[in-house]
Amino acid sequence: MRPGRILAGEMKAPDEQATDPRSYEVRTFGCQMNVHDSERLSGLLEDAGYQRAPQGEQADVVVFNTCAVRENADNRLYGNLGMLAPAKAARPGMQIAVGGCLAQKDRSEITRRAPWVDVVFGTHNIGSLPVLLERARHNDEAQVEILESLDVFPSTLPTRRDSAYAAWVSISVGCNNTCTFCIVPSLRGTEKDRRPGDILAEVEALVAEGVLEVTLLGQNVNSYGVEFGDRQAFGKLLRACGAVDGLERVRFTSPHPKDFTDDVIAAMAETPNVMHSLHMPLQSGSDRVLKAMRRSYRRDRYLGILERVRAAMPDAAITTDIIVGFPGETEDDFAQTLEVVRAARFAGAFTFQYSKRPGTPAAELADQLPKAVVQERYQRLVELQDEMSWSESKKLVGQVLDVLVAEGEGRKDGATQRMSGRAPDNRLVHFVPPDVSTGRPRPGDVATVEVTYAAPHHLVCDGPVLGVRRTRAGDAWESRSQQAREPGVLLGMPAMPSVAATAGA
Ligand code: SF4
Repeated sequence: MRPGRILAGEMKAPDEQATDPRSYEVRTFGCQMNVHDSERLSGLLEDAGYQRAPQGEQADVVVFNTCAVRENADNRLYGNLGMLAPAKAARPGMQIAVGGCLAQKDRSEITRRAPWVDVVFGTHNIGSLPVLLERARHNDEAQVEILESLDVFPSTLPTRRDSAYAAWVSISVGCNNTCTFCIVPSLRGTEKDRRPGDILAEVEALVAEGVLEVTLLGQNVNSYGVEFGDRQAFGKLLRACGAVDGLERVRFTSPHPKDFTDDVIAAMAETPNVMHSLHMPLQSGSDRVLKAMRRSYRRDRYLGILERVRAAMPDAAITTDIIVGFPGETEDDFAQTLEVVRAARFAGAFTFQYSKRPGTPAAELADQLPKAVVQERYQRLVELQDEMSWSESKKLVGQVLDVLVAEGEGRKDGATQRMSGRAPDNRLVHFVPPDVSTGRPRPGDVATVEVTYAAPHHLVCDGPVLGVRRTRAGDAWESRSQQAREPGVLLGMPAMPSVAATAGA
């Protein structure tokens, strides 16, 4: 047993020990950081003897991994907690824990408003969850433990990975920037970088387990190395990933235009397994608004980066985040955002209507815009971006792509009889699989297909599959799904940056 590890039920007197392992469920809100933290929470709980609850069954322990970035996050949390209160009252011994950004922000306010919560833990001490659960049971009293800074880099904690073929690898946590719309720095702290050797050891271990694709994760990957004084550390890390035998696809999120340097472009272009896809948050096309957001690049620098990326990698698919209606944004500022969107030719964009996030400097600004103005601008932006996404996608019709087959990515696959996966540039691809007799690809295998139709947000390949490469990742997926007809296991790949992409750079 790992030193210091506490098993479920360990603090109870022998006659009180539960004979069956206690079950757990982790409910995740928010960004990729939280999705990855939830993999760690699951790993920690399993290491402590808990078992994932079968889908649809009430778990003995329910953990909420919360997000403070989205509007009304607190109402949603308290609503969920309220709905769980009767289940807890009816089930002696059931426990509820709340962690993540909202817990870091609200602290004991959570147990004040929802006294049936047993444990509140923050973003810096997720490793304490099993101990806190046991202490709450033993003392029969809610435990609230929030640390102001990181006690242990979360990647050293046990992890239960959702996917057999694609994995998140954390390279840093926290952020040294102070974007005025963002709550992340006050909840996740300043940037802490993980040592390159530890990152590469994790990548190598993942590849040995069958993983083909890793996504390097940080709030601002381009400032990676600031802690140990190497401004070119991120480019070097990409190149080092290129030397990992068996690793086929390397992605990263999120970069920051302020810190994005040409050595990273060169590393992307010269390292064969680094994919030519880039999610580069723009936020606004107006220099005046960027300044008010405290984003220290300007539109010319942003467009210059895109130009150099495309000169080095003409096939690069570039996506972005844009906020519409930041306080004080004029029609002219917004027109400049539309201009940049036209010039940038984004393959896709996560677009957000600005809304006040309590605790952020922008929430205090006087010139908040009326909802109707924000809504109308948002509509125009979405229409333009859809048009741009579609025209970029259409360029791929007739191209042959290697698709890493995924599970759970094609919501209509059942109805359309197709399978789905990701192209090297991370576009979602739906294709008609070969007959079972000729061998269907498994999630984690690679199918070679020709694009027959392009939609704004996905590609369709309705011709015959040109080839299927069975991979170690497909083998890993197969053995995992055989052993683990275990309930509740999700074998998907990390999704594209989404909901809380504004919480990244
Ligand atoms: Fe840091 Fe990104 Fe938040 Fe800005 S938006 S403060 S770069 S996490």
